[in-house]
Amino acid sequence: MYYIGVDLGGTNIAIGLVDKEGKIIEQRSIPTLKERGIKLICDDMISLCQSLMVDNKLNKEDIHSIGIGTPGEIDSKNGVIVFASNIAMDNFPITETISSKLGIPTYLANDADCAALGEVTAGAGKGARNAVIVTLGTGIGGGLIVNGELYTGSYPGAGEIGHIVIDYKGRKCGCGRKGCFEQYGSATALINDAIRAAIANPTSQLNYYIKGDYDKMNAKIPFDAAKKGDRIAIEVIGQYLDYLSAGLTNIVNIFQPDTIIIGGGIAKQGDNLTIPLSNKVKKRNIYQRI
Ligand SMILES: [Zn+2]
Repeated sequence: MYYIGVDLGGTNIAIGLVDKEGKIIEQRSIPTLKERGIKLICDDMISLCQSLMVDNKLNKEDIHSIGIGTPGEIDSKNGVIVFASNIAMDNFPITETISSKLGIPTYLANDADCAALGEVTAGAGKGARNAVIVTLGTGIGGGLIVNGELYTGSYPGAGEIGHIVIDYKGRKCGCGRKGCFEQYGSATALINDAIRAAIANPTSQLNYYIKGDYDKMNAKIPFDAAKKGDRIAIEVIGQYLDYLSAGLTNIVNIFQPDTIIIGGGIAKQGDNLTIPLSNKVKKRNIYQRI
């Protein structure tokens, strides 16, 4: 028996075929192209599932279920996205559309909740009793494990830590408020800050990587330029770590978890990210453990 996991993100749709031990057999991904709307995105998710099954010689009886993780406030019981600030798909019946087309039970949950469950079941937080997962991507997602279980609150939207405000007069957010954590700590925010710094400082190495094309800026470039000693990139990364630590310290002060797990593409920076970040959070945390 196999499972299919779909990660519907603001940038990419990633899909994985997983065996019953939780081992990933195959992964694929395509761009989300979110501007085209949820109906066409849903068609693509269906085609991806079909091609993955055909290529692995599996039919619908071999697939136990399909699990979809996506950003936003999710009504898992009804398989509906109640609100997503990054992709316009309010109230679209995703699970019904996919399960009726493929004949496979389909479930929907917040992507960071999926990540949190995955990490404490088989990943970086295996065995943790209290854990917070923070995904740094197009926005910031959050998943909370409290006393060994996913905390879902009484209403959709628990764990949306991307919308904790860290500057109440600050940058406008897709949720309608100002100064939300994700406007400063997401990959998108880092990219935008790096572009602003590159424009303001023509001699910075940040410009060398993009060769004048600001669309080429990504979240890895400022880290790479900082490693090479570029002063402007070091400032951009320093500021970014300050923003991240401000948001994460809020979380620590509420939950005092065993661990905070960072996910998303920026997590590939590994120790370059987590060591300075945990040092900053330790300094600011109200209950200082070193
Ligand atoms: Zn917000």
